[in-house]
Amino acid sequence: MIAACAGQEILFFDLDGPLLDVSARYAALHGQLLAELGLEGLPGPVYWQRKRARWPEESILAECGAQVHAKSYVNRRLALIESPEYLALDRCWPWTRSILSRLAEGHTLVLVTARARRVLLEGQLVALDLNRYFREILCVAAGSRVDLQKAALIGDYLERHGRFGENNWMIGDTEADVGAAQLVGLRSVAVLCGIRDEAHLVGARPDHLVSDIRGLPGVLKPARVPARRLLARHGVSRTRKRRTQ
Ligand SMILES: [Mg+2]
Repeated sequence: MIAACAGQEILFFDLDGPLLDVSARYAALHGQLLAELGLEGLPGPVYWQRKRARWPEESILAECGAQVHAKSYVNRRLALIESPEYLALDRCWPWTRSILSRLAEGHTLVLVTARARRVLLEGQLVALDLNRYFREILCVAAGSRVDLQKAALIGDYLERHGRFGENNWMIGDTEADVGAAQLVGLRSVAVLCGIRDEAHLVGARPDHLVSDIRGLPGVLKPARVPARRLLARHGVSRTRKRRTQ
């Protein structure tokens, strides 16, 4: 874990979506559960499209003609979605580590994720070589209001570190992440590479919307007027400026 630096902006990162591509895990589990019932699930890309459009699992099952199995499917899905076998399907985006490395040079990074099994989460972060970027790992089992749960985790962190009321950031891929940011007074960046499509994320009204975290450095860095243009605006050439110093 890296040390926190006082005064550095804090970037609270959601894990699944912004940093990891979890679509293979979700689609494989859907296919496996339907296969256990002797039924065929939706093709992986179609299933993921439904999830991005925020279809409930029950509606997806109805499309597969499996709605009568909804209760057992949902329970079994919850039991398996964080199992080691399925977590092994998650992949970092090709740019995840390089962008985190760049951002960690000038920011404090904190992970805040809705995961029920902390030990497995920590093992996955080590396996993916992601743990070294984060000052702290905050996690909670997802309930019915993940926005409130994440806001509570973030609020507790800010209070413990005396950083409440500052302009820090939340980066996530769901309306719950944006909502958590709004509840705690953080600026929010939503990414389009995760489990919600553009229509849903626009509806959540994030401060910024980017394709993926490669757009973060441009969002976080305040726009700067090139020095040459500033000098020209005041009628001072670079040569004259040097002579008068
Ligand atoms: Mg997420």
